[in-house]
Amino acid sequence: EDTNINDLINLILKRLRPIAEKQQIDISLESYKPIIAQVDRTKLTLAISNLIENGIKYNKEKGWVHVSLNVDNTYFYIKVEDSGIGIPKEDQDHIFERFYRVDKSHSREIGGTGLGLAITRSAVLVHHGAIRVYSRLGEGTTFTVRIPLKYTKTGKEQAAEASGT
Ligand code: ATP
Ligand code: MG
Repeated sequence: EDTNINDLINLILKRLRPIAEKQQIDISLESYKPIIAQVDRTKLTLAISNLIENGIKYNKEKGWVHVSLNVDNTYFYIKVEDSGIGIPKEDQDHIFERFYRVDKSHSREIGGTGLGLAITRSAVLVHHGAIRVYSRLGEGTTFTVRIPLKYTKTGKEQAAEASGT
């Protein structure tokens, strides 16, 4: 459905800010333009919540999470940046796999199933988008998500949906 992405992100932040504050993590949002896009709200909310939750969980004391929104003619972009513990290079290719968790003592102390990013990735792919990670150990992590403003289903996809498969 046509969705105001700014509102969707604000709702997520409203829910997660109290959790972040308990850990003295500051969350900020940067967005310049209203973004309207055809998305599955539930899936997109879950996808972005997972990224921000990770930014809070794998952070340092008095750290920050910065979310920024952008848009052009074809896509909108969501960037989630944190000042956290970072992800070792050799793990970066695997973190989107189900149940994969970085085997560092600090992230092991923190609870989790290792499903969050797998869910995020599949939700982004359902929207025909792309997700990337940039990270430096000990410095922080940035996830970027790019999603088409409007995706027109192929005839094949429409037929599959109509037949309920
Ligand atoms: P769940 O999200 O299911 O509660 P999880 O957070 O462990 O558990 P994912 O969200 O899939 O699982 O993340 C996989 C692993 O990638 C994490 O266990 C952590 O080691 C690493 N990771 C993910 N996001 C970050 C981040 N922002 N900073 C540092 N490490 C991260
Ligand atoms: Mg997670």
